[in-house]
Amino acid sequence: MSSADPQVETVIDLDAVAHNVRVLREHAGEAAVMAVVKADAYNHGAVQVGRAALAAGAAELGVTTIDEALQLRAAGIDAPILSWLNTSDADYAAAIAADVEIGVSSVAHLDAVARAARAVGRTATVTLKVDTGLNRNGVSDTEYPQVLELLQRLVDEQAVHFRAMFSHLAHADQPRHPVIDVQRDRLLDALAAAKEYRLQPELVHLANSAATLTRPDLAFDMVRPGIAVYGLSPIPEASDFDLRPVMTFRARVALVKRVAAGEGVSYGHEWIAPRDTTVALIPAGYADGVPRPLGGRIAVGIGEANYPNIGRVCMDQLVVDLGDNPAGVCEGDTAILFGPGDLHPQRWADLLGTIHYEVVCSPRGRAVRRYVGDPAQQRGPR
Ligand SMILES: *Cc1c(COP(=O)(O)O)cnc(C)c1O
Repeated sequence: MSSADPQVETVIDLDAVAHNVRVLREHAGEAAVMAVVKADAYNHGAVQVGRAALAAGAAELGVTTIDEALQLRAAGIDAPILSWLNTSDADYAAAIAADVEIGVSSVAHLDAVARAARAVGRTATVTLKVDTGLNRNGVSDTEYPQVLELLQRLVDEQAVHFRAMFSHLAHADQPRHPVIDVQRDRLLDALAAAKEYRLQPELVHLANSAATLTRPDLAFDMVRPGIAVYGLSPIPEASDFDLRPVMTFRARVALVKRVAAGEGVSYGHEWIAPRDTTVALIPAGYADGVPRPLGGRIAVGIGEANYPNIGRVCMDQLVVDLGDNPAGVCEGDTAILFGPGDLHPQRWADLLGTIHYEVVCSPRGRAVRRYVGDPAQQRGPR
């Protein structure tokens, strides 16, 4: 790395995104792929990942909020975009004007979309999100008939175009869990009920990453993977599914120095040097997304070797023990916190009692994002 490189950064490999999308397309068979790029593409950069995913054959993009969708439109992405979690007072007019498909979960949502459509003077494209058992977002059983009645009226008056129906699984990471089939059956029931109101969506979708990779019978017309696009296995104990991790979290060694036997390192001196040793200072701390509970428990990769973190993780920095420093680690060297290979984010997830989804969402603060691979190299905040 040159001296112009940031001290701490996430490197986002867009070739890996393309590879992962191709893997997902194979599993999807005839079904289209919607790449989920919510939460700024799981902290990988929604615009760049979205472009790379579309170039690799994803047909659509999925996000949570209208704001997220509008950012993609502002960057010039004209592929179909679905936004599925908004309050009833969200800016549906802006979504309709930008041709963003809107997922609705209640009469109140649908009413708000219809009002916005009339105000804008354009037909809104709507997707019904039905709750089939996750009991989170989605139209509830009890409200479903009212939603269908209203939807039928709105379709008739051309305020709304009914494009798709979808639902989300509660147990997709356990491919043989019986609730998965219950949810599929309820989705089919919801489709049948819609038909009784003369409502027929063009598309039906259900599968997230885990279901895309393990339950081809649930692909319907489109699959909706998120985490697998980022190269992380939705069922890490089963397989990596030939996915390639997209994010590397790394920093540059800021200082290398000797510490004498008996000296304590970092706040609280939780680590005392058992011998004279050499330590390296890594300028990444909890403000940058290295969780403090990892202090003294992780390894950091520098060159060919991994070195143990010693002492507490601080706001801005952590320290690793180089021993006699046989490899000659020096200031400016690249230190890998996590990435593809043996410093997989799953290691942090295991130590923290969480999932790798949360680990890749963690880098922040001073961490600068750098894109490598196709399309061109770009740099942006984080
Ligand atoms: C986040 C999300 C996905 C993607 O889930 P992964 O497990 O990351 O593949 C798909 N659908 C909905 C509704 C989601 O909220």
